[in-house]
Amino acid sequence: MKNLKERSQEIALLMQYAVPEAERVPARKLLEKYGDDAVALSVFHHFYSFLPEGLDDAITILRRLARRESKFLLCATTSHGDYLYATDSEAAVFLGPLAEGMPGEVLDFFGFASPETFPKTHQDLGRFPVHVPPYLDRSLCPACHAAEGEFHTLGCPVEICPWCGGQLTSCPCRFSQLGIHEMDKEAQIDDLLELLYAKGRIPFNAEEQAPAYPTSPADLD
Ligand SMILES: [Zn+2]
Ligand SMILES: [Zn+2]
Repeated sequence: MKNLKERSQEIALLMQYAVPEAERVPARKLLEKYGDDAVALSVFHHFYSFLPEGLDDAITILRRLARRESKFLLCATTSHGDYLYATDSEAAVFLGPLAEGMPGEVLDFFGFASPETFPKTHQDLGRFPVHVPPYLDRSLCPACHAAEGEFHTLGCPVEICPWCGGQLTSCPCRFSQLGIHEMDKEAQIDDLLELLYAKGRIPFNAEEQAPAYPTSPADLD
């Protein structure tokens, strides 16, 4: 997995071919603002690799329409239109122009009522906040972006072990509970999850689990 700096550099290179000359400076500035946000970088990378209309274009605003667990529903606005992406810190999936709505399973996942109402209720995009990098949002797990009361993504370094109270990814409990010496099979992950829920898996709690981050919110308007 590339680090954030390498990902930004790759996007900047794609932008040299994808962004109309007159829009290059603001487009680069927006990329810099989101330079530490893996969730936003996933959208930038997809956008500048594939360009939704096949025309040179540039993202001017990134809005957050919804979030659930580690997934975000973001809308990238350009001078050509508004484009929807389902994204996390690894990769983005292009869902199409906002006006065309979304696949039913995506609506269900993010908790929207119906495919018919989605384009109408989202015509007024200004109601939705500009996307703030999740690492600046103290109500979310800084590593996997679970919200208060949600379970972490398994493997999140912030998750607390219900057996020993230590860090679940580094304590030895997963091995002792499963009676094994290393985890090398997919089935062991399912077994571990079952044991975790049986014991009482510990959801994200912003007050107890969020480490203080030294960063102050960047100007994202
Ligand atoms: Zn987490
Ligand atoms: Zn433990």
